[in-house]
Amino acid sequence: MTRKVSIFGATGSIGQNTIDLIARDPGAYDVVALTGAANIDQLAADAIRLHADIAITADDTRLEDLRTALQGSGVEAAAGQTALTEAGCRPADWVMSAIVGAAGLAPGLCALEQGATLALANKESLVCAGQLILSTAKKHNARLLPVDSEHSAVFQALVGEDMDAVERIIITASGGAFRDWPLEKLATATLAEASSHPNWDMGQRITIDSASMFNKALELIETREYFGVHPDQIEVLVHPESMIHAMVGFTDGALMAHVGPADMRHAIGYALHWPDRRALPVERLDLAQIGALTFRPPDEKRWPALRLSRDVMERGGLSGAVFNAAKETALDGFIAGRIGFQTMAQVVDQVLNDTDPGHIDAPMTLDNVYAADQMARQAARSVIEQRAG
Ligand code: NDP
Ligand code: MG
Repeated sequence: MTRKVSIFGATGSIGQNTIDLIARDPGAYDVVALTGAANIDQLAADAIRLHADIAITADDTRLEDLRTALQGSGVEAAAGQTALTEAGCRPADWVMSAIVGAAGLAPGLCALEQGATLALANKESLVCAGQLILSTAKKHNARLLPVDSEHSAVFQALVGEDMDAVERIIITASGGAFRDWPLEKLATATLAEASSHPNWDMGQRITIDSASMFNKALELIETREYFGVHPDQIEVLVHPESMIHAMVGFTDGALMAHVGPADMRHAIGYALHWPDRRALPVERLDLAQIGALTFRPPDEKRWPALRLSRDVMERGGLSGAVFNAAKETALDGFIAGRIGFQTMAQVVDQVLNDTDPGHIDAPMTLDNVYAADQMARQAARSVIEQRAG
C-alpha cells in the first residue's frame, strides 16, 4: 500500500535528504505536497519528478515563477504563508517538518490536527510551543517522531525501556567550527568561517548555530519538551568525532549510546520506517579504523547559549518562543554583517532580560506564541541597532 507523504522545507538540506530516500522507492509513496521558499527551480523539479499533487513556495511574490516552472506538469502551484499552512492540512500519512525557524510551527500543527505522523526536524516548533505541539498531537491521536539526530538517538535508545528507569540524557555536540579557536579570536569570526561545519553538511543557519552552540541550546529545550525530563537530567558533552549522537543513562548505571555516521538520512529513515528498522544507504562505521572517540565538557564561556537555554527551561511558559525569535533575529544580524559572532548571545540575553513577564506567562496559544515571537524580534532588532550603531 502506498503512503501519502508531504515534505515541508523540501528544498533544504533535510528536505533533500528526505527526497533522496523517498525517490529510491517511488512505488511506496504518493507525494501530496512539497514546500520551499526561494529555490523555485529545485521545488518544481522535485515536484514534477515525484508527481506531487501541489508545490508551494512561502514567498508569495514567486507564484508566477513557480507556475511557469510547473507548466504542463499537472502539479498545482501555490504561494504564501496561508497556502503553506493549508498544505499542512492536506491529508497525508507521514509529514516531514523541515522548514527552518518558527515558520515551521503552523504547518506542523495543521498536519498534527489531521492526525498525520509528523517527523519533526524543525526543532524550533518544540522550543517555541512544546506544550502546544504535544497537546495537539495527543488530541488528534497523531504521532510525533524526532528527526534531530540526538533526539532520534535517544528515542532509539529508549525502545522497550521504562522512563522511570531513566536517570539522565546526554546529548553530544561536535563543538562546531570554533571548538578549538582561542577564546579571544572568536570576536573576529567571519560569516564564512562560521558557515563551515567540521562533520555535518547542513543548512547555513543551523551550521552557524552549531558554531555558537545555539543549536545545542535549542536541543536542550527540545529534549526537555519531547522526553518530558527535568532540565537537571539533561547534559551536553562535546564529542568532536560526532559518532555518538546521544546516550541515555539508566538508574542501574548503564549508559546506552547510539553510534552512527554523521548522515541525517539515518534519523530521517528511522522516522520514515518507524516502527520498523529498514536498510538505509548510509556509511557503515569502521570503529577499528577510527580508533578512538573523545569527549570533553562544554565551556560556557565559549558557548554562553548553553547557559541561556538553562535559564529558559527554568523560566518556562513562552520564554522558548522569545529565546528562539531573538536568536533568529541575532543570527540574521550576524549574517547581514551588522553584529559580531559573540554579540549574538548578548542580544538574546538582553532580550530575555528585558521581556515583559506578561508575554512569557500568557497561555500557550498559537496567537500568543506569535505575539511573543514578534515582540522578541522587534526587541532584538532594537538591541542590534544600538550595538551596531
Ligand atoms: P535549510 O536552510 O537547508 O532549508 C530550510 C527549508 O525551509 C528550505 O526548504 C527553505 O526554502 C525553507 N524556508 C526557508 N525560510 C522559510 C520560510 N520563512 N517559510 C517557509 N519555508 C522556508 O535548513 P535545514 O534543512 O538545515 O534545516 C531544516 C530544519 O531542520 C531546521 O529546523 C533545522 O534546525 C533542523 N535540522 C536540520 C539538520 C540538518 O542536518 N540540516 C539536523 C537537525 C535538525 P528555500 O531553500 O527554497 O528558500
Ligand atoms: Mg541535532
